[in-house]
Amino acid sequence: MDLSKKVRLRVGTNKIKFTMKILIMGPPGAGKGTIAEMLQKDLGVMHLSSGDILREAVKENNPLGLEAKAYMEKGVLVPDSIIIKLMKEKLNEDNFVLDGFPRNLAQVKQLEDEDIKVDAVLNLKVSEKTIVSRISGRRICTKCGKIYHLQNMSPKKDAICDNCGNKLYQREDDKPDTIKERLKTYKEQTEELIKYYSDKGILNNIDADGNKEAIYAKITGLQWIKKRKSKLRARS
Ligand code: ADP
Ligand code: ZN
Repeated sequence: MDLSKKVRLRVGTNKIKFTMKILIMGPPGAGKGTIAEMLQKDLGVMHLSSGDILREAVKENNPLGLEAKAYMEKGVLVPDSIIIKLMKEKLNEDNFVLDGFPRNLAQVKQLEDEDIKVDAVLNLKVSEKTIVSRISGRRICTKCGKIYHLQNMSPKKDAICDNCGNKLYQREDDKPDTIKERLKTYKEQTEELIKYYSDKGILNNIDADGNKEAIYAKITGLQWIKKRKSKLRARS
């Protein structure tokens, strides 16, 4: 096919194809998972969490997961080749919230090489005090993955999930020493993506120190989200 035709076809498809690919960013404990869950419920978009996908792979004794485990326990990034293999097969949806991936510039490049373009980035900004309190109080359901907090979002019954009745647990890497390492990794490798997406003009900074309803209200107040929400409604 000659190139001009290919280009025209592409333009044509982009016009009718409406996507909602959101990347949610922020340091560990910023509340990415909680907000992504709310977006998933509210907008019906799929939540793709690289951390959840990795933990799932570890639980299933998948060889990639077993290779990743030692890195995760230390609080450093797992090698790009592993995470990319695990994420690639999930990325062919039109609408999703990405949480935890990409996490360095090499992963951004990989995503772009696959021709996957993020439409908007939500950058959750929190103080260091909030981070430590959120992570140390975080508990997660062993079965359905719902996230709780001992003080701020406690389950109705102690250590039991409201959703499915299974036990809650604390992530191994949510213990104090690993938290420090994760924050360091974030500063050294992930923070620079903020400038990258800001230069592209798709970054939205969200003050995320408050409770989840207040944070979510800020997100749904964004012009970009409002527009997409009404388009999604019109389609369904
Ligand atoms: P948090 O954002 O709170 O640190 P995650 O659940 O997103 O927690 O990640 C947990 C761990 O999984 C990370 O510390 C890292 O080892 C690994 N991980 C998750 N996503 C990636 C990624 N995109 N690239 C490399 N490692 C990752
Ligand atoms: Zn549950």
